[in-house]
Amino acid sequence: MTNHLTVEQIIEFVSINELNEENIKKMTDVNTHVYRCDECAEKVRAFQAIYDEFVRLGQKDEAGNELAKLYEERQNRMRNQIQF
Ligand SMILES: [Zn+2]
Repeated sequence: MTNHLTVEQIIEFVSINELNEENIKKMTDVNTHVYRCDECAEKVRAFQAIYDEFVRLGQKDEAGNELAKLYEERQNRMRNQIQF
């Protein structure tokens, strides 16, 4: 497995709400990768669940930004927890 999906790619993927040519290409790229990569598939599922929750709460427009923020916070927490 070469390059993993970036967080930006995943957020873009879960936020897609219009099927134009560009978005279909993005979806294909992500789907092709997660088909063979459990790690990214798990991330996509997690982001999708959070995104759906924002949509359910009627905060669809903020969902992308909020996801990026949550992810960053989580990364920081993990860095702080692991002390070598
Ligand atoms: Zn991957």
